[in-house]
Parts: sequence; C-alpha cells; structure tokens
Amino acid sequence: MNERLNYEVGDIVKLKKPHPCGSQEWEILRVGADFRLKCMGCGHQIMTARKLVEKNTRGLRKKSETEAADIK
Ligand SMILES: [Zn+2]
Repeated sequence: MNERLNYEVGDIVKLKKPHPCGSQEWEILRVGADFRLKCMGCGHQIMTARKLVEKNTRGLRKKSETEAADIK
C-alpha cells in the first residue's frame, strides 16, 4: 500500500497485530512523530512511533464516518 494515509485525531486505525484483549482497532488520541492510541477493546493507551503505525495499518476509519457515535 503506497497510499499515504491522513491520520487525524479521532480516527480509528486498524492494525495488523491484535491487542492481547482481541481488538485490532485503536482510536487516535494524538498525532506527531509518536502517536497516542487507545485500544477500542479495553481502553488501554499506548505511545507508538508514527512509522510503526504506518507500517502496521490495515485500515483507517475517519471520524467523519462515525461522528454520530461520539462527539465531545
Ligand atoms: Zn485492548
């Protein structure tokens, strides 16, 4: 996949490796050289390098597609 994804806070990213809780989806809480991600399954938060996120991304769901579900 050569397409460069536009990661934004609030988007849901799906990664190749599932979290031990079984979820593969993470909410993006912060973007930058490092991303802060929150597991959609158990709420666990991690910091991870942007490169690793890009390498392991299998899908990205924009927050605009789910805005009805969760608005601050
Ligand atoms: Zn989890």
